[in-house]
Amino acid sequence: VQAVFRSNLSHLLDLMGSGKESLIFMKKRTKRLTAQWALAAQRLAQKLGATRRDQKQILVHIGFLTEESGDVFSPRVLKGGPLGEMVQWADILAALYVLGHGLRVTVSLKELQSNLGVPPGRGSCPLCRIRVIDTFGTEPAYNHEEYATLHGYRTNWGYWNLNPKQFMTMFPHTPDNSFMGFVSEELNETEKQLIKGGKASNMAVVYGKEASIWKFQGKEKFLGILNKYMEIHGTVYYESQRPPEVPAFVKNHGLLPQPEFQQLLRKAKLFIGFGFPYEGPAPLEAIANGCIFLQSRFSPPHSSLNHEFFRGKPTSREVFSQHPYAENFIGKPHVWTVDYNNSEEFEAAIKAIMRTQVDPYLPYEYTCEGMLERIHAYIQHQDFCVAPGPALPGAHTSQSPFVLAPNATHLEWAQNASLAPAAWPPAHSLRAWLATPGRACTDTCLDHGLICEPSFFPFLNSQDAFLKLQVPCDSTESEMNHLYPAFAQPGQECYLQKDPLLFSCAGSNTKYRRLCPCRDFRKGQVALCQGCL
Ligand code: UDP
Repeated sequence: VQAVFRSNLSHLLDLMGSGKESLIFMKKRTKRLTAQWALAAQRLAQKLGATRRDQKQILVHIGFLTEESGDVFSPRVLKGGPLGEMVQWADILAALYVLGHGLRVTVSLKELQSNLGVPPGRGSCPLCRIRVIDTFGTEPAYNHEEYATLHGYRTNWGYWNLNPKQFMTMFPHTPDNSFMGFVSEELNETEKQLIKGGKASNMAVVYGKEASIWKFQGKEKFLGILNKYMEIHGTVYYESQRPPEVPAFVKNHGLLPQPEFQQLLRKAKLFIGFGFPYEGPAPLEAIANGCIFLQSRFSPPHSSLNHEFFRGKPTSREVFSQHPYAENFIGKPHVWTVDYNNSEEFEAAIKAIMRTQVDPYLPYEYTCEGMLERIHAYIQHQDFCVAPGPALPGAHTSQSPFVLAPNATHLEWAQNASLAPAAWPPAHSLRAWLATPGRACTDTCLDHGLICEPSFFPFLNSQDAFLKLQVPCDSTESEMNHLYPAFAQPGQECYLQKDPLLFSCAGSNTKYRRLCPCRDFRKGQVALCQGCL
């Protein structure tokens, strides 16, 4: 059956059920965004033209992968708890529905089981058909149960032995996983002009809904400086009394309903983060509403090794600021990342921001059309129940799939459809690079304006690939190591990856020069390569 775009979301609202606080929040959001989704569907339909889209039957379970925990979100939704998750779940449901797929929604394990007939992983639902919503991501070393156990990567989460692309993240930070995302409310030209004209240049809103974020180091100093120039607003949840952490000169609105929060952002000039929460939707909404986002640089970077929040999360990613996506994918003039330990730098930034004019800005991948486009591509092309196409041992020796670049550290995959007929992303977008010692593939690809694409690792995992890169291997070994394929300099040894489940863009060690599969990406849609739609 062909999927047909939908623009009326009232049936979806019925599907979402009722009663629970989390669902109420989500339904309000979906209702508010209906017109925006409908317009996006129209645009994407036009863009895709006659492309065939199969209708899928999709069961969305809003809860934990591991255990019965009922509605895990509701108790905190009204108290400043993570709303980012609710935003994302609402948008995932809307996107799937608008794309025309058959949907069922469950929020308890009981409902889930009665819908499946059996627990997940068996019978009607093999694990390869599951997608996991995973805000901060799961790196391959933590996902591979045996490897994680043997090498100290075992955490509270992870070790599901899924294809790492089955984990879908909130931001495109770990190319080993799929970037799912969410949407932000969009403005038309008239609204943009209105907002620009109506900004109060001395109004700042502080990022974060929980009183605990106001306990950061150097609070008096920073708030004092900021207060010299601007009127400071907060949206901190409180029960009956003003939270003592929030100084008297801050105008605290309490946790606002989402539309009122947007209104506040429309008036404000500055949205300021004091280190926590990490990587939520609010900074994107602020920037989309014409604010400048000011945040602190983390030096040393925060990670699961040195920070409580990331401890136990299945990732070794180092976070160099409160919102790395805002820093790296948006940047100035919308995003200013400064060293808060340096009060002069902090003060200078505030003064400069007050003089800087910016337009409201929303990256394409966070628009409704961008999210629909991306999820459409995943649904049509990602199939984790078949063995990966390109892993054809020996194929490299009989043909010549590589084109050597002049500097001999960069390979291009010559178009050769016969090698990997159904591969997605298409193999010709592969650009291989040999990393410098100690550099991860994520960074190596970014260094070249590309993105690491783990599904291309099989192309590079052969002696022939090393040969083509003119890497002088004295010997070649095949082992389980998430950094392989790689070249170890002293000893001139080449290492191949023994277990495809361990192919990983993340990870580095000064001992190795990693062999990295990179690809191009669409501007504003990093999840998709140029030829990926
Ligand atoms: N938000 C809200 N009321 C407020 C402050 C924030 O509804 O007073 C919403 C905001 O629009 C955003 C969501 O809360 O979509 C999540 O915000 P945040 O970035 O703080 O992420 P979280 O830490 O909740 O995941």
